Amino acid sequence: MTARILNGNVIREEIYGELRHEIAALKAAGVVPGLAAVLVGDNAASKVYVSSKVAACEALGLRSIFVTPAATISTAELLAVVCDLNGRDEVDGILVQLPLPSQIDAKQILDAVDPAKDVDGFHPVNVGKLVAGRPNLVACTPLGVMEILRRSGIAVDGAEAVIIGRSDIVGKPMAMLLLHANATVTICHSKTRDLPGTARRADIVVAAMGRPAMITGDYIRPGATVIDVGTNRITDSAEAERIFAHFPERLAAFREKGTALVGDVHPDVASVAGALTPVPGGVGPLTIAMLMSNTIKAARMRRGSRATASAPAVAAVPR
Ligand code: NAP
Repeated sequence: MTARILNGNVIREEIYGELRHEIAALKAAGVVPGLAAVLVGDNAASKVYVSSKVAACEALGLRSIFVTPAATISTAELLAVVCDLNGRDEVDGILVQLPLPSQIDAKQILDAVDPAKDVDGFHPVNVGKLVAGRPNLVACTPLGVMEILRRSGIAVDGAEAVIIGRSDIVGKPMAMLLLHANATVTICHSKTRDLPGTARRADIVVAAMGRPAMITGDYIRPGATVIDVGTNRITDSAEAERIFAHFPERLAAFREKGTALVGDVHPDVASVAGALTPVPGGVGPLTIAMLMSNTIKAARMRRGSRATASAPAVAAVPR
């Protein structure tokens, strides 16, 4: 069996096409959705993530505000930055890029973001609404996974879903979204007994552990759908040889660059799964697409009464 590859870049473009209609309708009514990205210090990986989010805003014609406090900023000073953004009418979404430097109380900062502008869906108010089945602004990565499943025609209603990872930003909201979509959900973590046996029960496996290529074929029931959330940069050549043994082109690319991006799912799983998201090019593009979608949704919810247009084009995106 060779898995159907669920191409996140194609799905993202489909969603962007829909979002463009809604952005145009809002703009016609004088509302340009705006996203403020707060990047503290100069963490290289964070810079790449934030730049791609700002680039997505530009590509869609959203307003982006880039705030870059020094790495030495205190919690009180960063709270003042968030407070200022909360009060600015042209800012519809606020994202504070994680991780924050160790002197910062990250929880205090995230809790300070106005829930109506919390486009990452991390605020306890938004998490509570999700759990209560009244989703408002929901974490982007799990939201993106639901879009991949829905737009790829993968049945969730009644399916056995196993999520590996229980983080606040991926595993837990993922479980809630799948549960609300009528899957029977099991959440696994580092203390789960018989992880391969539990995962093998699943029609849908979502891997989100941050463990390069850990999920091998023996975790997967033949024909299951496998969603690989993991993004891990590897630089060790022995590890690359092991992971890409059956993928000579990827091994050659690794040898040339000395680095490669791999998921939590071993690429060989493509010969067992029925459908599989690649890394890169699977879940990652959807995370950014959902951030854009959340920003537009936040603008519509907060300033929509100023816009005359309804938003039929993206009604299919969970809101
Ligand atoms: P995290 O906060 O570190 O959580 C990892 C989870 O995986 C924890 O619940 C942990 O269990 C579990 N885990 C770790 N090792 C395990 C093992 N050997 N067996 C079973 N469970 C194990 O990570 P995260 O923030 O959720 O991110 C997970 C991965 O997704 C990372 O690779 C991250 O880079 C990636 N990610 C990608 C996107 C994207 O847009 N593509 C977005 C967000 C995250 P315990 O709770 O027991 O410790």
